[in-house]
Amino acid sequence: MNAFTNSRIVAAYRERTPGSASLAAEAARLFPSGVTHDGRYLDPYGLYVSRAQGPHKWDVDGNRYIDFFGGHGALLLGHQHPAVTEAVATAMAAGTHFGASHQGEITWAKAIQRLVPSAERVRFTSSGTEATLMALRLARAFTGRQTILRLRAHFHGWHDHMAGGYSNHFDGTPTPGVIPGITDKTVLVDQNDIAGLRAAFAANNDIAAAILEPTGGTFGQIPIDPDFVHELRRLTEANGALLIMDEVVTGFRVSPGGAQVAYGIRPDLSSFAKIVAGGLPGAAVAGRKDVLDQLDFAVSAAAGKEKIQHPGTFNANPVSAAAGTAALTVIAETDATDRASATAAALRAALNAVLEDAGLSWAFYGTYSGFHLFTNPGKRAIRPTSFDAMTIPAAELKDSPKALLGRLRLAMMVNGVDTNGRIGGVLSATHTEQDVADTAAALRESLKMLRQEGEV
Ligand code: PMP
Repeated sequence: MNAFTNSRIVAAYRERTPGSASLAAEAARLFPSGVTHDGRYLDPYGLYVSRAQGPHKWDVDGNRYIDFFGGHGALLLGHQHPAVTEAVATAMAAGTHFGASHQGEITWAKAIQRLVPSAERVRFTSSGTEATLMALRLARAFTGRQTILRLRAHFHGWHDHMAGGYSNHFDGTPTPGVIPGITDKTVLVDQNDIAGLRAAFAANNDIAAAILEPTGGTFGQIPIDPDFVHELRRLTEANGALLIMDEVVTGFRVSPGGAQVAYGIRPDLSSFAKIVAGGLPGAAVAGRKDVLDQLDFAVSAAAGKEKIQHPGTFNANPVSAAAGTAALTVIAETDATDRASATAAALRAALNAVLEDAGLSWAFYGTYSGFHLFTNPGKRAIRPTSFDAMTIPAAELKDSPKALLGRLRLAMMVNGVDTNGRIGGVLSATHTEQDVADTAAALRESLKMLRQEGEV
């Protein structure tokens, strides 16, 4: 028996989604928990989607959803942007893998450089996880130091160096399968704690690099103080450490040049994924020539240093290169980034108006084209429409009632909206005023359903 057995919300969800239920039953015999990404795990089962267009997607039962998952953040231009689709079709027709260099990778790197001035050199990888892994290796080799400074609750992929510290193990202890030798070389600091940051640098002369999500943990679920980011730049430079901006989510989304351009901060290295490959698999590490030169055969040999090796079957895959180039070109030449941010601001305001009408002291907040829900576990006296997340401690912002949000998410789906598990998400340039109004209506209806179940 699960806790949802008598829920009318769950019954309504099951009734609308028999096709997903049947596929989920099959998947349960194939995949751990029946899913292929932790973020897609949902009780009683997740949606099976068969088609997507613009800001919308349709499940196998034909139900339409306003999509705020946005390809895990990859789809700033929405699903099936015509320029991206056409570029991919052309690339596919020429072949999917040449086992050789190709012109598309040059165009792709230039499209990044056009937007990101710090990208003196670029190296393509297949995922953001690989990009941060390479960034750390480059930084450690370049500085001859071993320790990495990270910020608690910032996510940088799932490799061993980044496996804990974002949703658990905030004390720096290793997660299952990770050896202590790795976590011993990590210093975790609280975001926005400038004194703690200074103390960490003062206490440790082995810091090779600091890495951060530049607008705060989980795309600003914990909003960052820009002064903290500037201080981190100053301290890394003063202490001979590199600054790695993990722009996997923020790249091309916060501004066409990413968070770094928005802040006016030049990092030594950046990691990009998601939008950089236009909705296909692909990622990159980019930054200072002298640092990326550690991957260069001739430069390493001339310096008498061992080159850092970097193979990777799908590095700069031609189809991903075509999709990425097309997407970055649209971003450079249109107001797509600003449009997504403006619609997100309208959505946050509309959702907060619904909360206020409902007399709930929760709040939607966020920056740029993202939104997050604060469920106010400490019962603070807040007003949704004037809520300032900067005044709330990180632990409270992250502390959300899982079962309640699980049910709210199902209710939102029953009402035609797909958010992430925390009832947040990202917008694309294709979301419209109508999508904002429909999402607000879906929230109103979902809160009513929760009330009927005595949940709020
Ligand atoms: N860094 C950040 C900030 C991310 O949000 C993610 C993925 N959500 C990653 C790194 C890892 O990227 P990938 O999923 O492509 O490995």
